[in-house]
Amino acid sequence: MKRNQKQKFILGGGVTGLSAGITSGLPVLEAALQPGGICSSYYVRPGSQTRLPEAPADDEAYRFEIGGGHWIFGGDPTILHFIQNMVPVKRYSRRSAVYFSGKNLYVPYPLQNHLRYLDEETVTRVLQELATTVSSDFVTMKEWLRASFGPTLCDLFFDPFHDLYTAGLYDRIAPQDAYKSPVSMAQVIRGAFQEAAAVGYNVTFLYPQNGLNQLAQRMAAQCDIRYNHRIVAIDPANRRLTLSSGDRVTYDTLLSTLPLNRMIEMTGLEVPGEAEPYTSVLVLNIGAKRGQNCPTDHWLYNPDTRSGFHRVGFYSNVDASFLPQSARRSQDRVSIYIERAFVGGSKPTAEEVKQYATAVVQELQEWGFITEAEVVDPTWIDVAYTWSRPGSTWKAQALHALEEQGIYQVGRYARWVFQGIADSIKDGFYAGACLREHETHQVPAPMLNHNRVEQAPVSLGD
Ligand SMILES: Cc1cc2nc3c(=O)[nH]c(=O)nc-3n(C[C@H](O)[C@H](O)[C@H](O)COP(=O)(O)OP(=O)(O)OC[C@H]3O[C@@H](n4cnc5c(N)ncnc54)[C@H](O)[C@@H]3O)c2cc1C
Repeated sequence: MKRNQKQKFILGGGVTGLSAGITSGLPVLEAALQPGGICSSYYVRPGSQTRLPEAPADDEAYRFEIGGGHWIFGGDPTILHFIQNMVPVKRYSRRSAVYFSGKNLYVPYPLQNHLRYLDEETVTRVLQELATTVSSDFVTMKEWLRASFGPTLCDLFFDPFHDLYTAGLYDRIAPQDAYKSPVSMAQVIRGAFQEAAAVGYNVTFLYPQNGLNQLAQRMAAQCDIRYNHRIVAIDPANRRLTLSSGDRVTYDTLLSTLPLNRMIEMTGLEVPGEAEPYTSVLVLNIGAKRGQNCPTDHWLYNPDTRSGFHRVGFYSNVDASFLPQSARRSQDRVSIYIERAFVGGSKPTAEEVKQYATAVVQELQEWGFITEAEVVDPTWIDVAYTWSRPGSTWKAQALHALEEQGIYQVGRYARWVFQGIADSIKDGFYAGACLREHETHQVPAPMLNHNRVEQAPVSLGD
């Protein structure tokens, strides 16, 4: 990279940065040695602890993902068309449930539309509450859940699940993602007595036939991406980046996909008020011999785990290609991801992760989901879920402070929004195209701020 030449850069080579790199043609500075950010697959042979970036020649390895199961939901038809042009994909119909381990009870997702799985007295109470107590008077997520689902369903599932999923923050943060848990009284009543139609944002989803890696790699092949370029400091006054190598690079405009809180820390910009809270996620990828009670669901929501996780997903229930070749036909093994949330800034030690992993394997064995674990591999997503305090203006002020310095935030973590892969690609394309336009036709820089596709937030995770 030439020093002292003012340039525009994209920070981060996850799906958002890669998309912006494609439409802008600008250099993408990426800390890691491969593209895709948390949307990256990797492989581990049974009994091994070594991560392989590619499937081995004999295909005898489990496929996992850095960020746990990443399925492509929703998305604009044009974005899906782009993805399908890049890589072959398959479409799957969602199979997911709430699992009450104490009662060994599975209730299909969403819970409120499948009340007939619960006992009669509970169903009667829930129906009464939904008919009478639903209101729009709430401030926090906890209040929103009570106002939407009533006290019985909250005591049973929504409270304990959200306590785990938000690492205890749910009574202090604003509600998220009402659209992912839609309450339709017609569906609730139908589901109390008979089969209800599948609903929600992820009824069907796509996944690349050869793994998520292939999508990131093919996108990266169309970009000017510079690996091993970790930014450690940004001097906005002099418009200068410092890399972990010690190299300094001047810039005039940055398109950043890095988390908003990290950008504020790295630039040292003053933003009044306390930074918004976030949660980190510890993903435990497990390859194991399949237990007798292992369900066929793609993922389960867990309100009552002893070891503290809130979701268990089964990669290989989505597609057998996540298993070592020799197990694909018999399906006598299973490839699993387990998610546990931590309040941002509270990372467990290596020893704590080890103890937790042992506890999880034991719990899954007790449930009969697995027998012998052949691979147990943890990954850490530092900024995974971004939250807001009711009434807080920190996010808007932080984005504004960066924009004033020619730094435009784009994507899920950068803009502090809930957003899936398809929408991240869309935002990356849009922002990259604006930057290119800005370069060639002198479109005023504030045009870039139109990249504000704020998504309605989530209640049960992506
Ligand atoms: C637990 C979880 C599950 C999810 N499941 C789904 C799902 O099933 N389906 C779905 O559609 N979406 C899902 N998502 C959302 C999805 O992960 C995001 O939409 C997507 O990954 C956003 O991509 P990104 O490029 O903006 O960010 P990232 O993937 O985080 O990319 C940022 C990039 O910046 C790089 N970087 C970071 N710091 C620096 C630095 N200092 N210098 C240089 N480079 C740096 C990183 O290495 C990374 O490559 C999930 C998210 C989470 C947290």
